[in-house]
Amino acid sequence: NKKELTNINDLANEYLRLSVHSLRAKDNTFNVSIETNFDDNIEELLIVPQDIGRVLINIYNNAFYSLHEKAKQYSDEYVPKLWITTKGSVKNGELKSVQIRIKDNGMGIPDNILDKIYQPFFTTKPTGQGTGLGLSLSYDIITNEHNGELKVQTSAGEYAEFIIELPKK
Ligand code: ADP
Ligand code: MG
Repeated sequence: NKKELTNINDLANEYLRLSVHSLRAKDNTFNVSIETNFDDNIEELLIVPQDIGRVLINIYNNAFYSLHEKAKQYSDEYVPKLWITTKGSVKNGELKSVQIRIKDNGMGIPDNILDKIYQPFFTTKPTGQGTGLGLSLSYDIITNEHNGELKVQTSAGEYAEFIIELPKK
């Protein structure tokens, strides 16, 4: 897999569509409100598109899973939501890095497991539903392969937001 100049917004959209498609295949009654906010000024980035795609798919799928779990618990007035935002960081007129934020108002992540989520095989999902490899692989792809950063902001019971930061070079 080699690095190619890639439009991050198109990639985020393309993989979102794939995730929504597989979500629909599993449960076609489940509705999520999706809000995208893309920065049109970000230039193409040199990345391995298939690998960043795997990261996006995993983060989207984790979010959908969490939204689905919460929807099962709170019935009526709960509206499952997903926000996807991209933003370029510019310094002296030059693009320095790009942030991709993926936020869901699902279950959130409790403090006592927050330091374990990137460990290989760590999962809170029932057997057969998760391998616990998604975030560990994602962390490797973002940090080691792309020199970027993967961070999370969360409040248990309220939301989880994963932030991917990719440097321009
Ligand atoms: P898996 O999805 O197979 O469980 P991951 O490495 O993708 O493995 O995620 C590890 C764990 O991190 C999940 O089992 C879950 O406990 C937690 N997690 C990840 N994303 C979210 C999210 N958006 N909301 C709540 N918990 C999450
Ligand atoms: Mg996962």
